[in-house]
Order: sequence, then C-alpha cells, then structure tokens
Amino acid sequence: MSAAQTTKAEGAAVTIAHVGKRFGGVQALTDVSLAVAPGAIQCIIGPSGAGKSTLLRCIDGSETADEGTIQVDGQPIETGTAGQPLAVGMVPQRPALFDHMTALQHILEGPLARLKLSRREIVAEAMAALERVGLPDRRDAYPNELSGGQQRRLAVARALAAKPRLMLLDEPTAGLDPDAASEVLEVMRGLAGSGPTLIVATHEIGFIRETGDQVAFMDGGEIVEIGSPRSLLAAPRQARLRDFLASLSA
Ligand code: ADP
Repeated sequence: MSAAQTTKAEGAAVTIAHVGKRFGGVQALTDVSLAVAPGAIQCIIGPSGAGKSTLLRCIDGSETADEGTIQVDGQPIETGTAGQPLAVGMVPQRPALFDHMTALQHILEGPLARLKLSRREIVAEAMAALERVGLPDRRDAYPNELSGGQQRRLAVARALAAKPRLMLLDEPTAGLDPDAASEVLEVMRGLAGSGPTLIVATHEIGFIRETGDQVAFMDGGEIVEIGSPRSLLAAPRQARLRDFLASLSA
C-alpha cells in the first residue's frame, strides 16, 4: 500500500488564549481567545480590517503574537517558520502561483517537499491531493491555463498534500465569480469531516450554516460574538453583528 493510502490526517485541537498583536500604532488583535475541537470547522466572519488574516497568520506562525499563547494539540506554535511544524497548512488570501511551474510541480515544491519521503511517495501524495480537489487531469497545466477556481483549488491541494492536521483558509472564495466560488466551496465541503481541523475566514453564509461547527464574529481586532452557526446567524446578539450580517445580504 502506498504512503498516500496509509498516512491519514487527523484533526488537531487548537487553543488560542489572550492573543494580542500590534503593527506599529495599529492594534490588529486584542485579547483573542478561541478553542477549536479536533476535526471541527471553525468559521471567522467580520469586516475588512477586523483582524481575521492576522489571526490566521499568527496561528500559521508567519506572524508572531505580541501577547498570549497559541497551541496546536498542546504544542506552542513556532513563529517565523510559516506552516511549521507541518501540522499547519495555509491557503492565503492571494496564493502565490508561479508561471513556469505546472500544477503538479506546485505541489511537489510545496510543504510536501519538507517531508522525508521518497520521490515516488511525494509524487503519489501530490497526485492524491490533486484528486481531492478534482484536478488530477490538470497536473501538467500551467497557472495561466487554469481558471480562477482551478487556481484556488490548486492552492488548496498544495496546502493539503502534506496532510496537515490543521488547515487555515483565508477568504478562499474572495474575488471569484459565483461558479468558481462554488467549485472551491465544493472542495471545502469535501474536506469537512475528513480529517484536518479547518479554520476558515469566509463570508459564504450558506457554507457556514451547512458546514460550520462554530462561527466567530471579529470586529476591531476582537472576537465580539461566537457560537454555533445556527444561533449566531439566526439570532445575533450584538448590534455590530446584526449590522454586519445585514451588510452581507444587502
Ligand atoms: P482582515 O483580514 O479582517 O481584513 P487584517 O488582519 O488584514 O484584517 O488587518 C487587521 C488590521 O491590521 C488592519 O488595520 C490592517 O491594516 C492591519 N495590518 C495587517 N497586517 C499589517 C501589516 N503587515 N502591517 C501593518 N498593519 C497591518
């Protein structure tokens, strides 16, 4: 049996306690605490500038929190080393793709390359990841030969290939037309419950309602309200959240 069939990702527990982060004079995060159960789908909503990306980047280790702690399965995350230890996979808001690399090469050169696997095993894992996002037949395509939705799915496959126990997705459907967005949402639905814990900044309310286990509303660097999608979306307690939800459906 190949490594692709034997290694199984399992969701990590994430514990964020009292995290603060400043950029110069900007307080991007203030006293953010959040617990995500293993394998859960945690959604984060909130207006632009709320701190969603900064929070994801602190969890991924590409930013260092000024205060507080972030643990993935009880281990403090190591900062300054994005995606390390390979427990964490990130799909950033604008994933970098390279004109001269095929879809398969993007995955081979991604976090997967840091695993101690043979070339044959790495290729098998990369193909398995392309299959999970529905792109196995585009393995030799260059980014300019892929649609916007396919490019985003490739970025998901690149993060997924190393079987992270936690996946962070920063507005994975942002800037996509509705058809492309629904392709990406379909892939995300396939990830849900299949292993990794997901933390997703998204405004796709249908996805949150159907798939999310918990949703947090951020504003001004704080988590203002948190709860199950049903209760939070149907009966928001805070005026700020009511206004934000109204702005989405306007
Ligand atoms: P969101 O993802 O919710 O739109 P961000 O986390 O990107 O919010 O931003 C939160 C705040 O932090 C904003 O005021 C933003 O301008 C600021 N910020 C984010 N990253 C940086 C940075 N690298 N340097 C300076 N300010 C930043």
